[in-house]
Formats: sequence, structure tokens, C-alpha cells
Amino acid sequence: MTNSQLHNLTTTNSKASKMIVELQRHGIQHETLLSLMLSIPRHDFVESAFSHLAYSATPLPIGRNQTISQPLTVARMTQWLLEHSRMGRVLEVGTGSGYQTCILSHFFNKVHTIERQQSLFESAQKRLSQLAINNVEFLHGDGHLGWPAALDVDAVIVTAMANKVPLALMDCLKDGGILIMPLDQPAPMIGCWKKMGNQWKCLGESPAHFVPMLEGLVCE
Ligand code: SAH
Repeated sequence: MTNSQLHNLTTTNSKASKMIVELQRHGIQHETLLSLMLSIPRHDFVESAFSHLAYSATPLPIGRNQTISQPLTVARMTQWLLEHSRMGRVLEVGTGSGYQTCILSHFFNKVHTIERQQSLFESAQKRLSQLAINNVEFLHGDGHLGWPAALDVDAVIVTAMANKVPLALMDCLKDGGILIMPLDQPAPMIGCWKKMGNQWKCLGESPAHFVPMLEGLVCE
């Protein structure tokens, strides 16, 4: 290893360690989650011009006018899943950079993930295969339509904001399953709900901003 490679590695490690301390300060206590977030190279998931900010408390561009959520939002959504969901099968809408997908793949037996932007769908797939992750099924599709085959998942996580929960996503979720989704009404919030028959029990919520959930596919 050259001196400059060693310097970059040391700087990255110290930024990642500071990120972990910040997460703990904001109530993230799950040790496996914290050590996972310490080890994932978050700088490889953002646009290269922003990689020096990858461990900061801010959303960052990932290409195609989309953003990766700030570390605390990712950690909070994941901690809700770890507290409330079975770790069988999860459906994610909004693969984006694949950072949240990567975290999910370490906890769930199987991850299904949907992205409407073809170029993001392709680069996330490449990134996760370079990290030797092989329990993820990727789909270039519109999350409003759910998964093309019948799925009965333990959890659904949506990382783009809508004004209501798409019916097809509700149908994929087991009774007793957990939904994590940002909704912009009455105010922009990310929430965690448990499906109980026709009712939803709110288990947690927090103010948050996400890019919008859009209709249809982008092919390029
Ligand atoms: N979780 C991502 C961040 C995603 S940003 C990460 O860790 O990087 C939200 C993503 O949702 C964007 O990539 C956007 O293209 C995608 N998206 C928006 N509407 C969608 C839809 N209807 N179906 C699938 N993906 C959608």
C-alpha cells in the first residue's frame, strides 16, 4: 500500500468512526447495525465529487437527480426493522445507490428491490456484486405496481416519498408485517407501521425529506 492510499484509508476510517458516534448520540444503539455501517464503504455509493462528504449528516447526490438519505435516516429505518420485523423477506422500493439494500442484505434472508431508473438499477447491481452480496433480487420497475410475481414479505421499505401507500405494496405485505415509508401528508414524515388486518398501527415516526416516488420507468 502506498503512503497516499494509507492516508486515504485512515481519513475514511476516522470519518466513519465520527459518523457512528453521531448515530449513537441520536439514539441508534443496535451494535451489529453500527458496526455494519462502520464497515460499508459509503463513499463508493455517492457521486465521486461528493465522496469526501459521504460520512457527513447530509443527503448526497447519487446521479440522475436522486439522493442517498443521510446516515441517521438510514439507521433509523433499519433500526425500526430490527426492532419490529421478522428477518425473512423484505421488499424495498427505490434501490438508488444500493446503500440501504446493502444494509438490508446483511439482516434479511432475501431482499427484493425495485428501481425505476435503469442506470441506477444497473450500477447498484454492479456495486453489490463487487461486495459479494448475493441474496438480493433486483428489478427495473415501478414500485407502484409491486413485484411481478406473488410475494408475501415480512417488511416493505420505501425510500421515496408519496402521498399514500400504493395498493400493490400493501398486498405484498404479510398480515403482521412492517411497512416503513415516507409520506408527505399531513407533513413530510417517515413512519413505521404494523399491518393488522385492515388496520395500521403506528410504531414510530420522524420528520424527514425524501425524493418523490414517481410513476413509470426511465430507460437509459
Ligand atoms: N435508498 C436509496 C436512496 C433512494 S432515493 C439509497 O440508499 O441510495 C429514491 C430512489 O427511488 C431513487 O433512486 C428513485 O429513482 C427511486 N424511485 C422513485 N420512484 C420510484 C418508483 N415508483 N419505483 C421504483 N423506484 C422509484
